[in-house]
Amino acid sequence: MPVGVYRPPRNRARVPACTTGRYGSAVAGRVGPPLIFVDIDGVLIPLRSRPYAVRVGGHDDGPDQHGNPLLDRLDPADGDRLLALPGELVWASTWMAEANEVVAPRIGLPALPFVDWPDDDEEPPRGVHWKTKPLVRWAAGRPFVWLDDEISDADRRWVAAQHPQPALLHRVDPDRGLTWIDLAAVSRWLDHRPGVPQRRGHHSPGGRYAAARW
Ligand SMILES: [Mg+2]
Repeated sequence: MPVGVYRPPRNRARVPACTTGRYGSAVAGRVGPPLIFVDIDGVLIPLRSRPYAVRVGGHDDGPDQHGNPLLDRLDPADGDRLLALPGELVWASTWMAEANEVVAPRIGLPALPFVDWPDDDEEPPRGVHWKTKPLVRWAAGRPFVWLDDEISDADRRWVAAQHPQPALLHRVDPDRGLTWIDLAAVSRWLDHRPGVPQRRGHHSPGGRYAAARW
């Protein structure tokens, strides 16, 4: 995790209504729609300040009522952009339950399921991110997208070898945070991944927002 980015304690209480199990939400034998795992720090909260007009509140960085100055860097339109993707959003962040309490309301998202990271401190395979193995376990055989700023080729190789369904591990530039280019890449993959007929009349979020402030 980048230095200076807020990281809440990992042992927060979960939100029972929003969680569907520690390691997975798939019903045995059913491959549901793709999951979209979303990181927060370095994805929805970029390391650099956003342009004035798009920040929540539109004022300079400074502690808000939650006490976290970086919340000011959230883009309130990101919620709609994420909801426009054809998949099921899941928080994959150390914010865990606090993502629903603090981040979701600021960008117009409903409470989402979140990955409750295991506390067993099991060492990840060499070069593989500590989130990767728990995410694959949580996906429980469903196709998934993972948006994170710390993804590497080692993660892609490990997932390709361990996960039976298609998976897109998309790295976001942490300085910029999520952009229309990222969303367009995700939307394109979701539309064209193996075994999925192309949807009619779909406009990618990237295309829709291409003329926006990015
Ligand atoms: Mg991150």
